[in-house]
Amino acid sequence: MKINVLTSGSKGNVTALEVGDELILLDCGKPTKWTLARLNWRLPRAILVTHEHSDHATAVGDWLKRGVDVYTTAGTIAALELKRRHNLHKITCGVPFEIGGVRVEPIPAIHDAAEPVNFILSGDGDRILYATDTGALPTIAGELTKILIEANFSEPVLLASGVDEYQKLRILQNHLSIEQAITFLQGCPTAEVHLIHISARHGNSNEFRARAIEATGNDNITIN
Ligand SMILES: [Zn+2]
Ligand SMILES: [Zn+2]
Repeated sequence: MKINVLTSGSKGNVTALEVGDELILLDCGKPTKWTLARLNWRLPRAILVTHEHSDHATAVGDWLKRGVDVYTTAGTIAALELKRRHNLHKITCGVPFEIGGVRVEPIPAIHDAAEPVNFILSGDGDRILYATDTGALPTIAGELTKILIEANFSEPVLLASGVDEYQKLRILQNHLSIEQAITFLQGCPTAEVHLIHISARHGNSNEFRARAIEATGNDNITIN
């Protein structure tokens, strides 16, 4: 499966996974037209949505109208006030399902949303983790070949910043830091890694990439 991060961060998150000649989108935080223009107007087969925040879910209603299959949790469906329809699929954390030969396992996320999840996708010789907008990661058994992982902020930069204590706590509880990402990545030194959802205010893409390479010995790390 080929990973194409179309955009990532607080202004929108959309990643395309190419599986054979089909596309699966991870989150849809940009308008459908914006996304389709970047996909050469190919309609995705399905969209997996982690949670209801608009930087991940703004286009859910429009994709549903276009007939694309959308998979998300009951909590996210309720928060987005989506009506029941044939191409809207309710998923449950810990209960795997299949999309065209790809096994998708929703795993728990800790985030200020109704029922947030992250995903592990297996197929095509790959096992991919998509982990974003979560304060912590569960233990993941078995090898991962590709990893999309949030590196939202640097802990020392956040703690020294001028944001108020309440906001600092909120960020610490709801997002992964580069330090947490590095600790996780040290356990998977051969994976293809994408650092995502880097904060403009408390993050530094180039520095985060350099630190992750140095700490893991893996130079197959890109920033998005
Ligand atoms: Zn987000
Ligand atoms: Zn969020």
